[in-house]
Amino acid sequence: MGRERAVVIGAGPAGLAAARQFKLYGIDPLVYECDEPGGLLLNACSVINYPGAPEGISGRELASLFPLPGRIALNEVTCLFRENSLYHIESETGVTTALAVIVASGTVPREIAVPGVADDYIHYGVSKLAGSSGGSAAVIGGGDAALDYAMSLSSGYTVNVYARGDFSKAVPHLLNKVRKIRKITLHPGSLPKNSFSEELVVVAAGRTARVDFISEKLLSSPPADGSFHMCGDCRNGIYRQTAIAVGNGVKAAMETAGYLKKMETGK
Ligand SMILES: Cc1cc2nc3c(=O)[nH]c(=O)nc-3n(C[C@H](O)[C@H](O)[C@H](O)COP(=O)(O)OP(=O)(O)OC[C@H]3O[C@@H](n4cnc5c(N)ncnc54)[C@H](O)[C@@H]3O)c2cc1C
Repeated sequence: MGRERAVVIGAGPAGLAAARQFKLYGIDPLVYECDEPGGLLLNACSVINYPGAPEGISGRELASLFPLPGRIALNEVTCLFRENSLYHIESETGVTTALAVIVASGTVPREIAVPGVADDYIHYGVSKLAGSSGGSAAVIGGGDAALDYAMSLSSGYTVNVYARGDFSKAVPHLLNKVRKIRKITLHPGSLPKNSFSEELVVVAAGRTARVDFISEKLLSSPPADGSFHMCGDCRNGIYRQTAIAVGNGVKAAMETAGYLKKMETGK
């Protein structure tokens, strides 16, 4: 594969915002996405804190408002490293090299063993369950994601949300909203010990940065010349919010554009 000026890894809010900002500089990045453009946002039932949508908006609808990049490779990046000032991006279709890279790869769910439920039957999101319905569903987790998953599922199931704690870590606005939904029952301090009677189990036990494809060297000493950025949830710790990811993406593209200009014109 050829040499790129800029590559973006991930087409969630951060990567899509970066690609959009690149366009303003006349840069046409190659964007890699291993699933569906929109990223984790596609799991969100109701995004209530995104400026511009004060009444709330579903994550899928918000994602559909993000312009798609001109070039998108629907492949998983399996390895990323830098050699002789060039980034090497490996995927199942081969190796691409690039002068600059923005990593916007988001997070992966923390997987847990659920008593009485085979691992293959545990879901860690709801984006692939859209439109499914049945009797009852269990959600395990006490944070915002668990409550948001419960809201999504309540259109097709009665939902039990089981948490070790008391839901006090959840955003109060969201908790109040969920409490008013008749089809959702909250079970604080109670995780079933042996098995679940519900036909569907969704786990929201936290997430960790998705950085396993990045070389040790890049992760431990990232170049400070403006050619390499990590943005959005993959670097934001507990501050994993769409607006922050978008802001990170825009800033990363602006800095990358400055780097490319300097490299290519000397100014
Ligand atoms: C249930 C739920 C509700 C939420 N509600 C809200 C809310 O109300 N308000 C709010 O602000 N935020 C909310 N969020 C958080 C929001 O979705 C994230 O902060 C946002 O999506 C982060 O964007 P990102 O681009 O950094 O990462 P992501 O959205 O995770 O996107 C990363 C993308 O990179 C791709 N990718 C990863 N690795 C590779 C690879 N190696 N090769 C190719 N592609 C790769 C992934 O497939 C994914 O599409 C919610 C999240 C969840 C789960």
